[in-house]
Amino acid sequence: MKNILTIDVEDWFHICGVRHLIPEDSWPRLESRVRSNTLRILDILARRSVKASFFILGFVAETCPDLVKEIQREGHEIATHGHAHKRVYTMTPPAFRRDLRKAVGVISAITGEQVKGYRAPEWSIRDDSLWALDILSGEGFEYDSSMAPVLVIGNQGYSRVPYRLTTGNGKLWEFPPLVCTTRLVNLPIGGGWGLRVFPYRLIRSSIAGLNRRGQPATIYFHPSEFDPAVPRIKLPPAKRFVLSARIETAEKRLDRLLKDFSFTCASQILENKTIRG
Ligand SMILES: [Zn+2]
Repeated sequence: MKNILTIDVEDWFHICGVRHLIPEDSWPRLESRVRSNTLRILDILARRSVKASFFILGFVAETCPDLVKEIQREGHEIATHGHAHKRVYTMTPPAFRRDLRKAVGVISAITGEQVKGYRAPEWSIRDDSLWALDILSGEGFEYDSSMAPVLVIGNQGYSRVPYRLTTGNGKLWEFPPLVCTTRLVNLPIGGGWGLRVFPYRLIRSSIAGLNRRGQPATIYFHPSEFDPAVPRIKLPPAKRFVLSARIETAEKRLDRLLKDFSFTCASQILENKTIRG
């Protein structure tokens, strides 16, 4: 059973909800570390011959086109994380479409290929922004991975396994992140702080449980989680926890996951028709 490995390719300063601390017009002046951190991930994947889906931010593609080429040369899937790293529910539908088209325009001009997959910043397609699914389908996307079955950032009622959505513009696959179900809440163990902080055995048994039911798990990482020297700025305590709690475990956990399970990119799962919608 192949699982799905995904990377959100953004820089350390692409943080949702802190535009007052790091305004967008300051980005070009900040030290970019996305290239070296992503190359580190590419190295780890090459050592284990694993392909992943890279959801690249349009801003990063614009400033580091050679990095996009390098990811493509290594045989990974090039997908998008939007252009300016805005939560979907903070945009109007026309603004979302503009952001999406800008990212796709920059990325496909570099790769010469169609972009098939989208991941929203901070899993921000939720009950108040479901209109985004119609737009994604209308823009020719084959799949989305932006709806988290967890409290606060998503909705606990959302599916925990990949499924095929019907939008106003046709069908669209949805790949939710891995969660661990408990009596009260779904724990967000598929990536970010949850993947770094919860015990590894919980993550391993949750993936194994899904795989036993014939379902793949979707895992995600960010390049800055592989950076022991990521610049520190003053952030609200909750943000600081999400971004940096046990950051040193990310690389070890990726390596363990690659040893314990088999992974590939989302488009390959769809091509192989290993799941039914
Ligand atoms: Zn992001």
